[in-house]
Amino acid sequence: MEKVRCLIIGSGPAGYTAAIYASRANLSPVLYEGMQPGGQLTTTNEVENFPGYPSGITGPEMMEDLRKQAERFGADIRFGMATATDLSASPYKVTIDGETVIEAETIIISTGATAKYLGIPDEQKYAGSGVSACATCDGFFYRKMTVAVVGGGDTACEEATYLAGLANKVYLIVRKNFLRASKIMQDRVMSNPKIEVLFEHETLGLTGEGVVQGANLVKRSGQADEEQVHIVIDGFFLAIGHKPNSDIFKPWIETDEIGYIKTVPGTPRTNVPGVFACGDVSDPHYRQAITAAGTGCQAAIESERYLSEKGL
Ligand code: NDP
Repeated sequence: MEKVRCLIIGSGPAGYTAAIYASRANLSPVLYEGMQPGGQLTTTNEVENFPGYPSGITGPEMMEDLRKQAERFGADIRFGMATATDLSASPYKVTIDGETVIEAETIIISTGATAKYLGIPDEQKYAGSGVSACATCDGFFYRKMTVAVVGGGDTACEEATYLAGLANKVYLIVRKNFLRASKIMQDRVMSNPKIEVLFEHETLGLTGEGVVQGANLVKRSGQADEEQVHIVIDGFFLAIGHKPNSDIFKPWIETDEIGYIKTVPGTPRTNVPGVFACGDVSDPHYRQAITAAGTGCQAAIESERYLSEKGL
């Protein structure tokens, strides 16, 4: 069985930053990239708010740079997915791709979060045929067409604005009568002539022969003036938030009711000694690349201290 001193699970800004710090501290970290190497930022277009890039940088480029930086100091970055854990006793056991078991003295969990879906059966029915949770990945297919984006947060506004650059028309379906997004993102949406915001609308289902051709909505559901609305669309994009990827740790690691890993405030320490969590999997509040990178750094420093205290 392979034994490692520091096993990093996940490859967003948190995981790669942890790998940079852990490799420079001679922990010989092994990092498994997971299903989506580079994480959520690889589906982002322009990152404008990461300090140090005055002209911005694309998400995939930034992730590529972070990976190279970690490899430069010897981090062992591998393709593979952690599928099970046994954290009952140290050294901890992590199963990769359902077969290989690795023993680790310390674990850094940086598995991030995954886009949420509404939970209506039509999302599965039309998966890959008009339903998407990533405008940057799939927007290209909807050039000069009509699409809808669901959600009222920063992600929804960002995706609607991005899609408006490609499509002829974008509906933004918002369940409340206001947008939760930051002021600047709201302004971009409200001033874009291609975007029509449908406040107080919810999605009941999708229609179409094989591919999405429309959506059935309800306006002011449950109110006296409730109204059924049908829109003609070619694509339906979800932007309603994310679920933390913590399921395989739950038997051992404490999470909140949504699944965010609980850490000792101000640190990446979990309830299991030597197991640390960083980035979006433990952050319901900020969820930014820079905060993820910051906590990745903390997790690596904590790993180093834990190993040296134990003489490992
Ligand atoms: P949020 O949780 O902020 O927003 C989710 C949105 O989806 C809300 O408007 C919510 O409605 C709506 N929603 C949730 N569930 C449903 C449902 N079942 N049906 C209909 N609507 C639903 O998630 P985001 O992904 O937008 O943002 C996450 C974090 O990332 C935020 O902190 C955000 O600021 C940040 N972010 C920053 C960006 C930037 O700075 N460039 C870009 C993208 C994200 P309701 O309001 O009614 O709850």
